[in-house]
Amino acid sequence: MKALTYISQGQFGITDKPVPEISDPGDAIVRVTLSSICSSDLHIKHGAVPKAVTGITVGHEMVGVVEAVGPAVSKVKPGDRVAVNVETFCGECFFCRHGWVNNCTDQHGGWALGCRIDGGQTELVRVPFADNGLTKIPDNVTDRQALFVGDILATGYWAAKISEISADDTVLIIGAGPTGICTLMCVQLKNPAKIIVSESDRSRRHFIQKLFPSVTVTSPEECFGKTMEATCNTGADRVIEVAGSDTTFRMAYECARPNAIVTIVALYDKPQILPLPDMYGKNLTFKTGGVDACDCDEIMHLISAGRLDTTPLITHTFPFSKIEEAYGLFESRSDNVIKVAVYPDNL
Ligand SMILES: [Zn+2]
Ligand SMILES: [Zn+2]
Repeated sequence: MKALTYISQGQFGITDKPVPEISDPGDAIVRVTLSSICSSDLHIKHGAVPKAVTGITVGHEMVGVVEAVGPAVSKVKPGDRVAVNVETFCGECFFCRHGWVNNCTDQHGGWALGCRIDGGQTELVRVPFADNGLTKIPDNVTDRQALFVGDILATGYWAAKISEISADDTVLIIGAGPTGICTLMCVQLKNPAKIIVSESDRSRRHFIQKLFPSVTVTSPEECFGKTMEATCNTGADRVIEVAGSDTTFRMAYECARPNAIVTIVALYDKPQILPLPDMYGKNLTFKTGGVDACDCDEIMHLISAGRLDTTPLITHTFPFSKIEEAYGLFESRSDNVIKVAVYPDNL
């Protein structure tokens, strides 16, 4: 079968691979019916993910149909439509038992698919710990609706959850890329008093304003002023930093009011500086790091109930044979692309 493969730093290419087989009783084989490209795939391509193994099939955002399951799998069966979780996790170690599946200590735990083991930009993918890593798609949910459940939507949901948002809060979200938009959608489920979104790209600001008319949209240059204006000069109650640019970490703690929660979802290229002497007494709570993608059933339920819809993020669709073209478009951010969907050539 054809698979998009991490050949060497800077190079992905389509190669021929053998069809994957069940190798552990907890495995499932999933036939991919729709996949997407994530900025983490680009990080692998450019050598920014040291754990990534050359030769693996890339891709960790996908939905499909279960083709086969190992004898220990009980949650899904062949023929079930499923969303695949970006994280594989054992469900039994100290961290998994606390819901911190991102920190699973199993050798196959964490972000393995499309990084350390073969992922989903291909026809068939082996998913370890299938009972934990697959979420059944209800009949009233399409592949396009379910496509982001296991990765960027899980991230947005987790970011909103750990930010402890209440009804009278002003929430500032920094960054309106795909994960920022998913975060915005999940923050809206918490019904805070005000939401402000800061985004540097003009076309993305227009996109947000059109899709979410009640949200205050600002450029980074005006973000501090707009936040102060919206909060009688106290600052945002909650800040969620999803952008990860050179200036956005600073913006996050500067726009936060004293005693605010600042949630950092962004992945930075460089270490960031926290000038503690200057902010002594501001008493911020920082929450940092990678998604704990353990709420996928709940997210799927919200989609099925019509409360979450990420399909407007899919701005472009390509057949698998043109996946390299899809990468080119996604990487160059041309034609106002937000996310691409890639479908098998035989569909
Ligand atoms: Zn991703
Ligand atoms: Zn675990």
